[in-house]
Amino acid sequence: MSENFINREYIEDLLEKAKFADNAGISLSLDKAEKGETLSHGEIAALLKSENPEHLARIFEIAGNIKKRIYGNRIVMFAPLYVSDYCVNRCAYCSFNNTHNFNRHKLTMDELREEVKMLEMMGHKRLALEAGEHDQCSIDYIVECIKTIYGMKFENGEIRRVNVNIAATTTENYRKLKSAQIGTYILFQETYHEPTYDKVHLAGPKKDFIFHLNAFDRAQDAGIDDVGGGVLFGLGDPYFDVMGLLIHNEHLEEKYGTGFHTISVPRLCQAEGMNIGDFPNLVDDETFAKIVAVIRIAVPFTGMILSTRESHEMRKKLLRLGISQISAGSSTEVGGYVKRRQNEKTNPQFFVNDERDAVSIITELMDDGYIPSFCTACYRSGRTGDRFMSLAKSGQIGNVCLPNALMTFCEYSMDYGDDSFREKASALIEKEIPRIDNETIRRKTIENIEKIRSCAGRDFFV
Ligand code: SF4
Repeated sequence: MSENFINREYIEDLLEKAKFADNAGISLSLDKAEKGETLSHGEIAALLKSENPEHLARIFEIAGNIKKRIYGNRIVMFAPLYVSDYCVNRCAYCSFNNTHNFNRHKLTMDELREEVKMLEMMGHKRLALEAGEHDQCSIDYIVECIKTIYGMKFENGEIRRVNVNIAATTTENYRKLKSAQIGTYILFQETYHEPTYDKVHLAGPKKDFIFHLNAFDRAQDAGIDDVGGGVLFGLGDPYFDVMGLLIHNEHLEEKYGTGFHTISVPRLCQAEGMNIGDFPNLVDDETFAKIVAVIRIAVPFTGMILSTRESHEMRKKLLRLGISQISAGSSTEVGGYVKRRQNEKTNPQFFVNDERDAVSIITELMDDGYIPSFCTACYRSGRTGDRFMSLAKSGQIGNVCLPNALMTFCEYSMDYGDDSFREKASALIEKEIPRIDNETIRRKTIENIEKIRSCAGRDFFV
């Protein structure tokens, strides 16, 4: 049964009252956040609205500490894979919208294999499969893509997790996705502000706000317990959208015992056929950093995803404030990884701001002391939904994730690293050894370091 659990007046009232929150009250909320206590909607709204530099400095500091405490220095890596740009919808912010004339394409299974081969050669093990909404791209086609990807084996292993970001659909279709063993089902609400949603979705099935809003309920009913939400910052009032995201998360927690596995924070980018200047709610860098930090404080255990929509500098900054997962070497178009090799001009869904190749991004993470993680163990061992969240909330997840991150980073270094990369990687991994509790894993990691040092280096695929 569809329901609208986003009460617009309630959120507007929260944000209105937040304007008058006093400094002492906000400081007390920050003390609570520092101790790991849950903040009320009113307190979160007050943090969002505050422009007091002292509060902002504390918000950034607390978010950074939460990030370090829960996620350590691990950063999960992934890449998007666009399989079809046919779309019946007319979303004002997207170049795939149905008024835009270009040669649309849906990958054949052979083309899909070529794309996946490129991604695997970059070292990726986790993909986010993306497609527009169209009869050309039925659920059976998506399922076929997933099966094809999981069926591929390479010299260095295989793609181990396929997350799926496709249009809101029926419970029956979600059941088919579940049977195909998808990882996380990702869907952005775009904006929780219904009048704005209506304005930017000019035509097509996506215009149905309630159907879109209830997509995760249908996915959960179909057995998909790993779902990832997000909004496109820049469409509506960003603070309204943060409150909407958090209320959506609570709705899922109350009804299904687990909220979002991840929250994505895409920010509106220029795309072909649209003018970014037409959008009145664009979010500046400072406000965006505050939003990321406040979300990290509000939902400490929910992974946060940042794409290559953000610039190199912003990604660096936001990693410190709460982001736990980033894409690398991304193409936002159908067949884009092969086309990139052939220097072909194409039609991306939007223009990316971080255009570095995957190895440059991974190397910089390592240079900054992060462990790039290619781990997919939770998904593969059935640790999804509430099983994942209870482990995360008990503080035990770090004991599981750090060894897994190190193992997969060792594997990446051996399989893809050139000499200089392997030297730096082994030094970084060595520093982490005292933090591994499990004796067997510690021994295995030491052995791996030796292997990284002694194996033959390779030229990176860029
Ligand atoms: S955002 Fe999605 S639904 Fe909207 S036009 Fe683009 S591909 Fe289609």
